[in-house]
Parts: sequence; C-alpha cells; structure tokens
Amino acid sequence: MNINNVLKEYFGYDSFRRGQEELIQGVIDGNDVLGIMPTSGGKSLCYQIPSLVTKGTTLVISPLISLMKDQVDALTEVGISATYINSTLTSLQLNERLQNIKEDKYELIYIAPERLNHQGFINLIKNIDIPFIAIDESHCISKWGHDFRPSYREIPKFISNLETRPVIGAYTATATEEIIEDIKDLLNLQEPKEVITGFDRENLFFKVENNIDKRSFILNYIKKRNDESGIIYCSTRKEVESLGSFLNDKRYHASIYHGGMNKEDREKAQHSFIYDESPIMVATNAFGMGIDKSNVRYVIHYNIPQSMEAYYQEAGRAGRDGEDSECILLFSPQDVVKQKFLIGESHVNPERASIAYKNLQYLVDYCYSHDCLRGKILEYFGEVDVIDKCDNCSNCTIERELKDVTIEAQKILSCVYRMNEKFGTTVVAQVLNGSKNKKVLNFNLDNLSTYGLMDNYTEKDIKNIIAMLISQGYLSLTESKFPVVRLTPTSKKVLKGNEKVYMAVDIFKENTSSSDNYY
Ligand code: ADP
Repeated sequence: MNINNVLKEYFGYDSFRRGQEELIQGVIDGNDVLGIMPTSGGKSLCYQIPSLVTKGTTLVISPLISLMKDQVDALTEVGISATYINSTLTSLQLNERLQNIKEDKYELIYIAPERLNHQGFINLIKNIDIPFIAIDESHCISKWGHDFRPSYREIPKFISNLETRPVIGAYTATATEEIIEDIKDLLNLQEPKEVITGFDRENLFFKVENNIDKRSFILNYIKKRNDESGIIYCSTRKEVESLGSFLNDKRYHASIYHGGMNKEDREKAQHSFIYDESPIMVATNAFGMGIDKSNVRYVIHYNIPQSMEAYYQEAGRAGRDGEDSECILLFSPQDVVKQKFLIGESHVNPERASIAYKNLQYLVDYCYSHDCLRGKILEYFGEVDVIDKCDNCSNCTIERELKDVTIEAQKILSCVYRMNEKFGTTVVAQVLNGSKNKKVLNFNLDNLSTYGLMDNYTEKDIKNIIAMLISQGYLSLTESKFPVVRLTPTSKKVLKGNEKVYMAVDIFKENTSSSDNYY
C-alpha cells in the first residue's frame, strides 16, 4: 500500500509533517535513517508506517514503558497487531506474548532495551523475520545527553547477533553535535539518511520569571487560566507534594505524580489529568515521557531542570495540538545550588559530572539572558538560522527596564583578576562586599585593592550580577562541583571601557522567592 494511503487509512491524517515522508521512504528503500525532530514532531509514525508497508516484524526499542502501552493500545484500536514486552507484564502475559511472537502474529513489537540480551528473547527473535529495528529516544545511548541509559549500549551487540542485519532507524528530539555523532557511531548506522527538521515550536511562548514569589505567581496564573490543562514541574518529590497540597488547599484540582508514589496512585493521577478531570498536574520529571496529551496549555517549571534538553523536552509537552501555549521557567538562584548538589550526588564519574554541570550552566545562562529566548534554545540545538527576535518570548515582547551596570561589571572583573581566577562566585562576591568571612580572611583576600569595593551592595546582588556576566559571556565558570570564576576574552573590552553592560532590573532586585515553609 502507498504510504499516503496508509497515513490516511490507519491514522486519519491527510498529509505528512516535515521530515516524515523522507524518513519513512528511507526505511522502505532499505537505508538506515536518523530522524531528529522536536518533541511531538511525529516521530512515531516514521517507524509505524514502514512496519505496515514492509514484510516481517518491526522491533521498536523504547525506554518509555508508558509510551509502549499507549502506542500499542492506539495501534490495536486501528487494527494494527502490536505488542510490548517489558517488566510490567505478569509471567502469564509474557508467555502468551512470546508464543504469539513465535507464531509471527505481530507487525510491531515494542521492547525495553534491558530485555534485548535475555537469551530466551534472542532465541525467539532469531526465528522470525525482522527487517527493521527502530530505536526511539536514541540519544539515550550517549553519555553527553541528560538521559544516558547503559542498556542502550547493548543494542549493537544484539543487532550483530541477528542472522541478517536489519535496517536501523534512530529517532530522537536531541540534536547536539556530540550526541548525533555518538548515535551514528555507537549504533553503527551505515550511511544513514539524516533528516533534521526545524526545532522551533512556533506556538510556544517562552518566558523566564526571575526572583518572584513562586506560589503567588502560580495562584495568579492558574486563576486566569480557568480550567485549562497545565503541568507544573518541580525538581523534588517533596516539593511536588508540598505544592500539590498547597494548591488543593486553595481549592484547585491538582493531581500529583512522582516516582515515589505507588503504581496505582500514579496511574490514577495520570488518568485524571489526561481525561481532564483534574486540570493541573504537579509532577517531577517522572511524569510525561511519552504522554500524548494534546491540549496542555502551559508548562511551568517551578525549579530549573538539569539541562536545556530536559527543559525543552518537558516544556515541549505544551501545545502538542499546535494551539498557542506557554512555557514558563520560574528561576531562583537557590535552585541552581540544589541542582548542583543533586548532580554531585548522582554522578560519581567526574567526566559525567562535568558534562552535567556544563549542561546546567547553559540553562542558567538562558535564565539570565536578555536575548531572544527562542533564539537561545535553537542555538543550543545547533540551528543554523538562529532568530534574533521572535516576538513570542518574554525577552522579545515584555519591556524590561535595563540598568547600566558597566561600573559594577568592571569592579567584579578586576576583582576576579586580582583573585587570580582561583575562587568561586560566593567568595568573589564576599570580597567585593567586604565580608569578614573566614575564607576571605584566611586567604588574606581583605588585603586586595578590590576588597569592599561594592560594600553598598548585598552579597546576593553581587552574585546576581556575576551570574548575569557569566550568561553574557563576560565571565566563565569551570565545570565542576565548586566552579571557579574566570575571565574571558570579552572581559577585556569591559575593563577597558570599550563595551557597556546592561542588566534587567528584575534579575537585579532582591530575591523574594518562597521557600517550602513560606506559607
Ligand atoms: P514525537 O514522538 O515526535 O514526540 P508523536 O509521534 O507522539 O511525536 O506525535 C505527536 C502528535 O502528532 C501525535 O498526536 C500524532 O498523532 C500527531 N501526528 C503525527 N504525525 C502527524 C501528521 N502527519 N498529521 C497530523 N498529526 C500528526
């Protein structure tokens, strides 16, 4: 059957989205493919349609258990025989499915990567015809990304054990250069047909709110939103629970979802959100992977996530139906400290940790940036024609009062210079502020000419200016748990008075963001 007919007949769509047709045709023609599309770009069809057009069974490797079930249910509904194999099955279900596989009953089999090297599965698969393997979320193979899964590294071994090498399709929403190289290399893609569609999601409005009282902001925001669906992401389970009860106390119908809840409660929460019984979902990043709810009108990040990739993926769950939607990041510097702590805890390997710090820093820079936010996002994903002004983000549309902070910047840069670029943000701020902190005194930093040079500013204000200088590239941070502030080639221009520095007033003002027990 012609692929346009399959699209219409099985999926009910009239035309392909950008990139879909080439990726589908590539597989049908027997080429490996690499599809890079933003979240909700329509990657699933790129492997589902070839599976219907080619003979044999397509294996879809996916790390997302909830996605497997949703997709299999949706496919079954339109008369396509599909199944999934993962750890949620009872042994009775598993045996039944394995028997069906043996009898060649499925067009698509979704499988979790951990299963691939089970000898029983390998033996079974050897006896059926697998012309095509689709590797969803293929960035999970790379250590550079935010989502590395060691089991993905086992995929090439599994493939090489098959009698005939199938066509391989790799799909991801991540497009940084290192990760793309890793995918091609580690999966041994052979001259893949690469399709990178634009990363821009035009219907999403991006906004950063700096130093605000987060809970008041959320109350005001959801009041205006009536019963529209929205997700509020928090970085910890504790924060999810506390914000969830706060909203419920204020008589808003909010569900909560995090990895520490039992399966039944999680399913219940997910169900009431998806079916619009409760419009608000307060969740950790455990929620949402593979959830295809089209009418999410806003995604608010209560805390900064660990990377731009994670942010864009989570924020991208808004507006899957193409309607206008908002993505708001509530920024507070304390959250960065928390994330750094979590990175330090979760990465023993120094190389991994340093990548994680770098990834976080890009997002911090995004929050302090005065430039077009959409442009910053697209620049991160390596888009060539980066926009200067999108007119659909808070930096492009909201008049922000800018303060000339050139003098302050010069004082900070010379202080970093005099401290021999050996200290972190806090100590630099303390020296400028004239603090009598032990570390300052122990290192005799009170003898420096820049000591107390900004004693009319609080330490927090100085740290905010330093963070802005980092985001604008006038300073840099080393990538470690205790990063050191360094000068950059552009520092000189400011020191010599050849470049002026401006800062948005809302970044500059005193942080009033609430703590957990604020209310
Ligand atoms: P991704 O995996 O890239 O995040 P999905 O494959 O889940 O995205 O697709 C996102 C949504 O877009 C789904 O609801 C899907 O049915 C829809 N979709 C995909 N392709 C098309 C198309 N050609 N026309 C209209 N809708 C589409």
